[in-house]
Amino acid sequence: MIQAKKLQEIGVRGSQVISPEKITFEERLRAFCEQNACRLYGKTWACPPAVGTVAQCKKRCLSYQNALVFNAVYPLEDSFDYEGMMEGHDAFQALCDRLYALIPKGTPFLLLSNEGCSRCKECTYPERPCRMPEKLFPSLEGFGINVLALSEAAGLCYNNGENTVTFFGVLFY
Ligand code: SF4
Repeated sequence: MIQAKKLQEIGVRGSQVISPEKITFEERLRAFCEQNACRLYGKTWACPPAVGTVAQCKKRCLSYQNALVFNAVYPLEDSFDYEGMMEGHDAFQALCDRLYALIPKGTPFLLLSNEGCSRCKECTYPERPCRMPEKLFPSLEGFGINVLALSEAAGLCYNNGENTVTFFGVLFY
């Protein structure tokens, strides 16, 4: 649907279209969300519990025919570089916005990104609906997707070397 050259232009390192059936969903991953180490659990419409159960998330993903798995790699000063990690995180979310802009109008899709949503200063969750549902790109991990297994299923590198961080996303269509 989107040419590999276009993906490279927006900053994608690797990409592969696979069948959604090849993606591994794991109920046990939801327990990590519930431990709330990222402090995003129950904070926005992009994370659990708002996204529904893992079974519901899986059903939603499998309702599409294709899964474009993609990643991007960002530099770190060292493995303790939290600031660099956050910069990479924000850069990947910006990349997902550029990917969204490439989706042909009228195409039904679901775009999963990395961790939560920080578009609004204060999220409407849970009182009112999301302000930008068309740009709500839920978290891969929150959907119960095993990202290591995802990288293997797509033949993409999970770890791209020392002093780098790699983020993954999936565009279902
Ligand atoms: S777009 Fe705004 S309202 Fe919607 S999930 Fe993100 S922060 Fe919340």
